[in-house]
Amino acid sequence: MIQAKAYAAQSPTTDLAPWDFERRAIGPHDVQINIAYCGVCHSDLHQIKNDWFPGIFPMVPGHEIVGTITKTGSHVKKFTEGQLAGVGCMVDSCRECENCKADLEQYCEKGSIGTYNGRGKDGLPTYGGYSNNIVVHEDFALHISEKLSLAAVAPLLCAGITTYSPLKYWKVGKGHKLAVLGLGGLGHMAVKFAVAFGAEVTVLSTSANKEEAAKALGAHHFVVTKDAAQVATVKSNFDFILDTVSAAHDMNMYVSLLKTNGVHICVGAPSTPHSINVFGLLGGRKSVAGSGIGGIAETQEMLDYCAEHNIVSDIEVIAIKDITASYARMEKGDVRYRFVIDMATL
Ligand code: NAP
Ligand code: ZN
Repeated sequence: MIQAKAYAAQSPTTDLAPWDFERRAIGPHDVQINIAYCGVCHSDLHQIKNDWFPGIFPMVPGHEIVGTITKTGSHVKKFTEGQLAGVGCMVDSCRECENCKADLEQYCEKGSIGTYNGRGKDGLPTYGGYSNNIVVHEDFALHISEKLSLAAVAPLLCAGITTYSPLKYWKVGKGHKLAVLGLGGLGHMAVKFAVAFGAEVTVLSTSANKEEAAKALGAHHFVVTKDAAQVATVKSNFDFILDTVSAAHDMNMYVSLLKTNGVHICVGAPSTPHSINVFGLLGGRKSVAGSGIGGIAETQEMLDYCAEHNIVSDIEVIAIKDITASYARMEKGDVRYRFVIDMATL
């Protein structure tokens, strides 16, 4: 077994605190990664609070992991010791179903295995990246370019791929008007990618004070969604809305901002169901869709795209002891735009 140090939540109502545990010994196809940085995703907060479903405790969150390979199993071909590597939201899948075979492991029919708050094929709980190391099958580890700031690459492993994948799937680009709803960790990456792909990008935000920063990210327009007069200027305006909002919100109002045939793509995952008036959809052949992270091949494609185009996340590096305070700031939308934990502070 491999000794690991981490910050864990012992229950949905306790703050994260130091916790020592053991990870599985390295199998022939496993790599061990010494974790340098881990991004802080709103999904971490949802899961330690049992927002979505009863979690597995103790829980070590973290699925935006970057670091250095320190050991490789005897059959590992993809990595050598000393190389940079990343791990995102999944650490395994059935590998046999139609979706797994189509490089869509995130939609594995048997359920992909989460990096934390899941159970591995050995039946044991998985533990995430708020930790000094991780052991993972080489197929679910990603290559990371040496060219970019390692801390700023970490959020690409979830916030990056979760926004890249739907933009690619719906072929968002030149000639499209896209609204990014919510300017947080996912939202700011959505702006960067959509601008890079040539779309005309509007940020729809509840925070009037984010306008300047949104434009600095490349957004062409900014609409404060609490201001009815501003919202009225973008009625029936968008081909796509990429919805990254983490809390309940009025879908019917946003759907009214789509053009005929427009698509409202949900990536944000509030804990309560949306209520949608079907007349708002059939009156313009509109769709509401969802998209979950991305497959391993597409995640590598996104990381390579970012290395080529010099795209990283805008981050605030924190010490792990400040995680609870950082969650409180994230809940208030007070993060520009991703906290990343420096794991040397563990
Ligand atoms: P985040 O950094 O906290 O950003 C969420 C943003 O949503 C906030 O900055 C805020 O932006 C807006 N917002 C928050 N509460 C709102 C409300 N009540 N009404 C309207 N807007 C509100 O969170 P994140 O890490 O980007 O994650 C966003 C969501 O995506 C979470 O639910 C997360 O679990 C989910 N997620 C899904 C996937 C997937 O595979 N689909 C992957 C990762 C994360 P403004 O200040 O601009 O309004
Ligand atoms: Zn995430």
